Amino acid sequence: MQIIREKSTLRQYIKQAKHRNQKIGFVPTMGALHEGHLSLIRASKQENNDLTVCSIFVNPTQFNNLDDFINYPSQEKDDIEKLLKEGCDAVFIPTVSEMYPSDNGRHSLSIHFGKLETVLEGKFRPGHFNGVALIVSKLFHLVEPDKAYFGQKDLQQCLIVRKLVEDLGFPVEIVVCPIVRENDGLAMSSRNLRLSPAERKLAPKLYETLLLAKNALLSGNTVEEAQQRACDFIAQFPEIRLEYLEIVDKYTLDSLQYRPSPEKAVICIAAYLGKVRLIDNLTLV
Ligand code: AMP
Repeated sequence: MQIIREKSTLRQYIKQAKHRNQKIGFVPTMGALHEGHLSLIRASKQENNDLTVCSIFVNPTQFNNLDDFINYPSQEKDDIEKLLKEGCDAVFIPTVSEMYPSDNGRHSLSIHFGKLETVLEGKFRPGHFNGVALIVSKLFHLVEPDKAYFGQKDLQQCLIVRKLVEDLGFPVEIVVCPIVRENDGLAMSSRNLRLSPAERKLAPKLYETLLLAKNALLSGNTVEEAQQRACDFIAQFPEIRLEYLEIVDKYTLDSLQYRPSPEKAVICIAAYLGKVRLIDNLTLV
């Protein structure tokens, strides 16, 4: 596996691959890799890509909370071993100044997404999707992937990236892969590493809350009733600070009312356990 740290080296690597007509599958990550990330690598290897390229970069412009950025887990050596084991062909691990040469991204350009960035994560993490769009654009320009793999875990990010690709005409197919969970239902996340043992024990309550809302909807309750039941359930655990629990249209993120068609609905949750903010979501079908 090639370990690449500079843009110029990556460009050279990609140029050679393109010259050989090789198809490139790309998996952008922020590292501290777990089975969720590795499922994306496997998806890329299983589909008709000749090369699978992963990137590991903790992107400062997408963090609206300095504490979250500073404490974001980093385990490069472990990550490289995991990627090697999966048969990943190349990993790009740039520094911040490599990706944002002028001023570490402080005054970089902005991309806006209208309504899509004003709800859910966008509402609670101002500027987050601008940072995501910037780094994804930079990486797509460098890697020139044929397909790029993203996790349903970050549902809103998937919609933002699709919009970016559509509007800016990136010639890449976006593939969205299912959420990988721990045995107790907790969605895998690099941030889980920051949970204390007591917080880790409580964390699956997020998934239980989603399941409760899902079952309530599927058994004929309205959105309002399902939401109320789910909020009442999670309120039993004062250590969990709920930020939002919303039942929305999975394509537009518009709020849903009454009894929506199960094909449309997704339940999204964000909550703090101590200082760690976790998100998860669950579709009805
Ligand atoms: P991150 O390193 O958190 O930026 O995630 C990199 C990619 O992995 C994103 O496309 C995420 O949606 C995806 N991902 C993160 N956690 C999971 C998970 N539990 N299951 C599936 N994909 C995931």
